[in-house]
Amino acid sequence: MPVVCSGCEGRPAVLKRPKTGHSLCRACFFWAFEEEVHQTVLSARLFRPGERVGIGASGGKDSTVLAHVMKVLNERYSYGLELVLLSVDEGITGYRDDSLETVRRNQQQYSLPLEVVSYQQLYGWTMDDIVRQVGRKNNCTFCGVFRRQALDRGAMMLKVDKICTGHNADDVAETVLMNVLRGDIARLRRCTAIMTGGGGEEGVGDGGVIPRCKPLKYAYEKEIVLYAYFNKLDYFSTECIYSPNAYRGHARAFLKDLEAVRPSSIVDVIHSGENLCVGVGVRMPVQGNCTRCGYISSQKLCKACVLLEGLNRGLPKLGIGKHQRLHDKILAQEPLSEKEERKLRAVDF
Ligand code: SF4
Ligand code: ZN
Repeated sequence: MPVVCSGCEGRPAVLKRPKTGHSLCRACFFWAFEEEVHQTVLSARLFRPGERVGIGASGGKDSTVLAHVMKVLNERYSYGLELVLLSVDEGITGYRDDSLETVRRNQQQYSLPLEVVSYQQLYGWTMDDIVRQVGRKNNCTFCGVFRRQALDRGAMMLKVDKICTGHNADDVAETVLMNVLRGDIARLRRCTAIMTGGGGEEGVGDGGVIPRCKPLKYAYEKEIVLYAYFNKLDYFSTECIYSPNAYRGHARAFLKDLEAVRPSSIVDVIHSGENLCVGVGVRMPVQGNCTRCGYISSQKLCKACVLLEGLNRGLPKLGIGKHQRLHDKILAQEPLSEKEERKLRAVDF
């Protein structure tokens, strides 16, 4: 006999919710999933009526589900938001070019405007070029720093008030674990905050100009996959060809083991991260502006400008690791010894 949905107690259940173990039909699962995101939006007061909101869209499952749910909730609950899609093209052949095709299809399917900003256009370097110069070990450092700025710059071009990204509960819990293991309280605070940047009341400084929020912060990855599957959403599921991130891989595997034993572990880890930060006096850096590009920065030059300087000079290690004295020398245009140059040129492939 088919199991009956515990939501409507009428239709047959088609799935068991990973988060709660409830057996639900499709319609009740959609409703439960969307209502939880709605509650997150309400309780954290993520948006105000009339705001123009950029959805960071990569073509992957998380941002595709985010765009879909935001459109549904905006209409169902009259949020009064103007939604736009915002994509960053890192210039990764065989990965981002294909996933951007998915975003372009999403743009049609959801009838939302789309803006694409590329590393090539902003920095004169694609990730393919960067990997050719810096190797496969530090590529994500460049990519992460550049993406943070690129999203902001794209958001400014689109004149949005806020950016929302598809970070899900698993992503947040993994990051909590990584930051606890590293003892990085400043990052711990930033990764658990539902809203960062922009200097708003709820905002936690992260160097971003435009406030960012994570409406899917409490949505489980497994449920996002189910939601996309049962809604037949069009998304791209290949991993980045340059993805090494071994450390995150271990945190992810550990979390999956915990989830298998107790599904609430993911949310429990997030709550632990949130509570660990309460009352901890973390000194946040004083924000100013980069003297070169004008972007918000706590140093004379922003991180992106330091990394770019290294790339353009053929010294890819500038800005990575502990070479502060050498950075200062280079940025002050003092000559380096041969040994010092060798240090900054060394690349790990
Ligand atoms: Fe960029 Fe790929 Fe690294 Fe992600 S995995 S930060 S897309 S290089
Ligand atoms: Zn700069």
